Amino acid sequence: MINDKKAQLLRSIHDRLYLHYGVLGCPLLHETPFQLLIAVLLSAQCKDDRVNMVTPQLFEKYPDAAAMSQASAEEIGKIIQSLGLWRNKAENMVKLAQKLVNDFNNTVPQTMEELTSLAGVGRKSANVVLGNAFNLPGFPVDTHVQRLMKLFKLAKANDTPEKIEDMTCKRIKPELWSNFSHLLITHGRRVCIARRPQCRNCVINDLCPGAEK
Ligand code: SF4
Repeated sequence: MINDKKAQLLRSIHDRLYLHYGVLGCPLLHETPFQLLIAVLLSAQCKDDRVNMVTPQLFEKYPDAAAMSQASAEEIGKIIQSLGLWRNKAENMVKLAQKLVNDFNNTVPQTMEELTSLAGVGRKSANVVLGNAFNLPGFPVDTHVQRLMKLFKLAKANDTPEKIEDMTCKRIKPELWSNFSHLLITHGRRVCIARRPQCRNCVINDLCPGAEK
């Protein structure tokens, strides 16, 4: 594990946010790893609460990969058409369910390589599933995490999510990765809001190089 100034800052920010917010769960409604995988896929460029409005009906009709693998993209599309990119998402969901049935014995795999072999699943989605469905190390880097890491001067303007993930995971203990991502995302939504950060009410004000004093 790297122990440099970046590591010290990351750990201080983690500890402070953890004291403030504690252990946070995944806001996407789900009962099984499969349902979380589908909810994460649906959440691309879409708010979690909008996803949560359609998934109860979706999972009632297609509770597992076996059921969804028999559906057509058109049938799924009728349920998810209030969400952005719904046509692509519906097509990916059918392909993904068919691959789970055919290649993974109707279960969700538990490795990054296998998860990212599924249609529509990138590293961020795979990390959400690893951390929240299986309690395995996973550090999802979404737009909030990217933005905050840049404000902390721990990432450069053009750093990719993969680079930010790698930088963080080399400095933070694996058992903290998943909740650290939740802490940053929650802080980005509630306090460090894009374009109007609430620096005066921010619990990491003294640690943050981007703070408005
Ligand atoms: S001090 Fe300001 S810029 Fe830094 S994390 Fe807090 S709200 Fe965001």
